[in-house]
Amino acid sequence: MKEIILVKNGELALKGLNRSSFEDILIKNLKRRLRPFGEFEYKKSQSTIMIIPVGSCDMDSASDAVSKVFGIAAYTRSAAVEKDMGAILEKAPEYLKEILENADTFKVNAKRSDKAFPFKSPEISSELGGRLLERFNHLSVDVHNPDVTVTVEIRDEYAFIHADQIKGAGGMPVGTGGKAALLISGGIDSPVAGYMMAKRGISLTAVHFASPPFTSVQAEEKVHSLLRQVAKYSGHIHLITVGFTEIQQEIRKKCPEPLFTLIMRRFMMRIADRLAREDNCAALITGESVGQVASQTIYALGCTDAVTTLPVFRPLIGLDKDEIISVSRKIETFDISIQPFEDCCTVFTPRHPRTRPTLKMLEDAETALDVDPLIEAAVKNIKITEIEA
Ligand code: ATP
Ligand code: MG
Repeated sequence: MKEIILVKNGELALKGLNRSSFEDILIKNLKRRLRPFGEFEYKKSQSTIMIIPVGSCDMDSASDAVSKVFGIAAYTRSAAVEKDMGAILEKAPEYLKEILENADTFKVNAKRSDKAFPFKSPEISSELGGRLLERFNHLSVDVHNPDVTVTVEIRDEYAFIHADQIKGAGGMPVGTGGKAALLISGGIDSPVAGYMMAKRGISLTAVHFASPPFTSVQAEEKVHSLLRQVAKYSGHIHLITVGFTEIQQEIRKKCPEPLFTLIMRRFMMRIADRLAREDNCAALITGESVGQVASQTIYALGCTDAVTTLPVFRPLIGLDKDEIISVSRKIETFDISIQPFEDCCTVFTPRHPRTRPTLKMLEDAETALDVDPLIEAAVKNIKITEIEA
């Protein structure tokens, strides 16, 4: 019996004229993500995409990958059988055996989009319902609140038979919303921020600041593992790792300690802004949330924003830490984030950070530094890594 994956588009359905290009991007994303699991053929029909294996494919891994692709409202694995009542009655109990053995009640929902099929929907439902009751005699029918809804769809080429659909990842297909640069640390928050913006259709470039020898090779590898996990949702990520040691040492030598973190954050933003523009990104993304630490009071955020030319998106801005953690567990970045490799922020944390800085204080403190040459040197001191899921 042939098994396929049926995918229902998400918000795309609302997009009117753009719908077809949205669907094409979704299919392109699916193709790229399913490539490791075999060869598949993709067919569009109404707001459904059929993913049809050609030869032998790893269907478990393929449907797990589908569950993480944005732009999908729901999906299901489905049997594709001959458009013949005898075949439907024979294959349905076999295909749905496990799920029906674990249910108490069911109903059949038949849809006939091929009107030439000689049985009408109610006839298909009652024939198949009868057959399933005979075969699984612990089952009873409940049309209002069944444990399982068995759906039969009579389409152009095949009859599809499946149980309930599974909720998809939602959002919009990555690539429909342009590109933005995610400032990624090794912490809990920034990977979640990247996931959230990718969900809205934005492709990601990532910028990471490393300060060797104060930060270790493992800290950089940790960022790679975090991004590989985010890439299961966002697709490919272009990572730019920036050498940040010199800037941090200059700050430490020449600026007042309570302002260390904020001056450092302003340098990160300036450099990320430059690199983002060069990579055609239209915005920056950070994992900041109001009040979480001293550098994230609204005053401090105002001072970091003052040095950027691109808009800064902070999708976690109003979330509590426990809410952020629950997303990071869901997308399986949490266990990687809590590995204890220090990043450049923790290494240079001041003992008494300023929580109510003014722009003037920071600008005055920064006159001790050669800001432009430091930035010029940093944007040249970069390493590129291409990250795939
Ligand atoms: P996270 O868990 O994302 O590290 P955090 O609560 O530890 O966040 P900070 O360390 O103040 O907060 O960093 C705030 C934001 O600045 C991060 O979410 C991230 O977007 C960015 N950032 C911090 N450190 C780095 C770094 N080494 N490289 C790139 N971006 C960074
Ligand atoms: Mg951090």
